[in-house]
Amino acid sequence: MWPLSPKWRDPLTAPGRIAVSGTGLRVRLLGEAARSVVFIHGLGASLRYWGTAYDQLAGRSRLVFVDLLGFGGSEKPIAARYDIAGHAERIADALREFGAERPLLVGHSTGGIVAMALAAHDLPESSVIGHFTADFKQENDDHVLERARQLAADDERAAEIALFEQIVSRTDEGGKGVLGMDDTLLALVEGQVDTIAVEGLTQEGSQCLNCDYLSAHKFRRCPICSGTECADLADVIEKAIERAYSSGSRVNIVFDGAEELLQSRGGIGALLRYVPARRAQPSA
Ligand SMILES: [Zn+2]
Repeated sequence: MWPLSPKWRDPLTAPGRIAVSGTGLRVRLLGEAARSVVFIHGLGASLRYWGTAYDQLAGRSRLVFVDLLGFGGSEKPIAARYDIAGHAERIADALREFGAERPLLVGHSTGGIVAMALAAHDLPESSVIGHFTADFKQENDDHVLERARQLAADDERAAEIALFEQIVSRTDEGGKGVLGMDDTLLALVEGQVDTIAVEGLTQEGSQCLNCDYLSAHKFRRCPICSGTECADLADVIEKAIERAYSSGSRVNIVFDGAEELLQSRGGIGALLRYVPARRAQPSA
């Protein structure tokens, strides 16, 4: 039972890596991204069911197409659990093995039921962002793809807003958070930033070439080291993001959802690794 799509092409000969997990499941892996989308076929099918119609998602996501045990290229042991829970557990093991974190699950028919069992399964170090049921008799590939995108976008938006709210509450209570250009840049320079949130703004500023201090204000003498070798920056934000990456901070560029919220609090903020001393012990 193959979807009658003109886009169908045998995925086993298409780009991607075919691998067999320790639990005997054959998988096709395509793309590299933090977000994984896992495709689970129904009864009487295999990962070939999906064709290559979803390969275009590989630009933003890591795609994992799974053969259930007993199907396709997976092992077919006589003594094994072939019930829903058994399938879900083996897929959970395979996802852990292939480092597929926070998967978006797409299941067809019985694959959808396995996906729901998997969503309820305790996936270590990951969580399922959502799932939906696709009806290939009623919906074409583009509809299903659009729904998958929508689910991922909703999750992204919710994560942005949650990050913003966390930064605000920590900042407002004088804890491990900063908002606004000056405080965030200072925290960054001092290596305190755990996660930086920034919306797509540009801001002129200056950099001290001696101690690397960054500021959204132009200066000729560094307020930190008093050095006079200073450079004007066309975009101090770009420099700040570079700095954040190189110091191992997480960078979250806020696109939608939290963009206006963040803008209302200075367009930039961060979760900090520790409470800045200047705020932990406010000077009288
Ligand atoms: Zn300096």
